[in-house]
Amino acid sequence: MQLRIPGPTPCPDEVLKAGGRQMINHRGKEFAEMTNRIVPKLKQCFQTKNDVLILTTSGTGGLESAVVNTLSPGDKVLGVSIGFFGERFAECASVYGAQVIPLKYEWGKAAAPDDIKRALKDNPGIKAVMVTHNETSTGVTNPLKEIARVVKDAGKLILVDAVSSLSSIDLPVDEWDLDVVITGSQKGWMVPPGLAFASVSERGWKAQAEAKMPKFYFDYARAKKFAAEGQTPWTPAVAIFFGLDVALDMMLKEGLQNIFARHTRVADKARKWAKAKGMRLVPDEKFASNTVTAVNAPDDMDVSKFLSMLRDEYKVVIAGGQGAMKGKIFRIGHLGFVGEKDMDEVLAAMDKALPKAKKE
Ligand code: PLP
Repeated sequence: MQLRIPGPTPCPDEVLKAGGRQMINHRGKEFAEMTNRIVPKLKQCFQTKNDVLILTTSGTGGLESAVVNTLSPGDKVLGVSIGFFGERFAECASVYGAQVIPLKYEWGKAAAPDDIKRALKDNPGIKAVMVTHNETSTGVTNPLKEIARVVKDAGKLILVDAVSSLSSIDLPVDEWDLDVVITGSQKGWMVPPGLAFASVSERGWKAQAEAKMPKFYFDYARAKKFAAEGQTPWTPAVAIFFGLDVALDMMLKEGLQNIFARHTRVADKARKWAKAKGMRLVPDEKFASNTVTAVNAPDDMDVSKFLSMLRDEYKVVIAGGQGAMKGKIFRIGHLGFVGEKDMDEVLAAMDKALPKAKKE
C-alpha cells in the first residue's frame, strides 16, 4: 500500500520495530536516557537552541498548548488564515477568550507580509501573530521568513503551526526568531501519530510566565521542570518515543539539507505530473508546498471515485479536499518517509485511474 495522505505517513521498518518493543518505566533511568538523546536531536531538526518540549498529543493539542501558554483571555491576536488549519488555530485562541483579529485569505493563496505589517499597524495592542507555515488543506507554504520579519519588527510574538512542514521544509527557528513552533509526529518525522513538539523562545517563556489562560495538561512550565529530569509530567506515548529515537538518527544521518532537497524533488514530480495532465495546482506555484500537492480536479472528474479506485485497484491512498474544497480538489501527501520511486509508483497508478474516474 502506498499511503500518500499528508499524515499519518508511512514509517520505516526500523521505526516500527523499535515501537513494538516491550514497555519501560517512564520514571526510570532508561526512559530518561532516551529522552536526553531525543531532545538534542529534535533541536537540530528545529535548528534551534530554544527549549523543545515533547507533548503526548496530536498536532491540534500542540496548537492549543501554544495558545494557552502565551496568552491571557482578552489578549488581541492576529489570526492569519489561508485555509482549514489557519482557521482551526484562530478558533482555538478564540475559544480560550482571545480577541482574534482575523486576516483571512482566499483558500489557495499565501499570506502577504505587507498585509500583516498593515494589520499590526491598524490594530494597536496586538500581542501575538498566529500563522500556519504550511497549509495542508491547500498545499500552500507561506513565506514565513518574511512574515516573521515584519512581526519581529513590530515587536510581537509569533506562534507558528509547522505541523506539516517542520523537518521536511527548511524552517530555521533561531534564524527566523520564532517564538513558539509546533509540529506533530505523524507528519514529516517518520513515526506514528501521538506526539507534538513545541519549541519555546526566551520571549515565549516570558509570555508563558504572564499568560492567564487556563491550562493543566499542557502547562509548559510543568513540562520544562520534568524535562530537566528526562521525563514528562504525564504518562508519555512511550512506543512513539522508541520509534522517534530511531527515526531521528535516520534523519540526521541523511542530513537536513538532503531531506529538504528530497522533498523538493518528490514534490516537483507531483507538480509536473499535474501540469502535464492539463490540471491546475491549487496554489500559485511560487508558494506550492513540498509536503503536499493540492490539485484542482478537472470538471469531469468524480473525486471520490478517483480516490476509491486508487485505493481499491491500485493500493494508493491519497486525500481529497477539506472543508470548502471537498469534492473539488485532491491532495497527494509526500512528506517524511518518501522517495522519488514512491512518487513514480503513485503517479503511474494515477495515470491508470484517471480515465476511469469520470463523472457519470
Ligand atoms: N495543522 C496542520 C497544518 C495540519 O496539517 C494538521 C493535521 O493535518 C494539524 C494542524 C492538526 O494536527 P492533528 O490532526 O495531529 O491534530
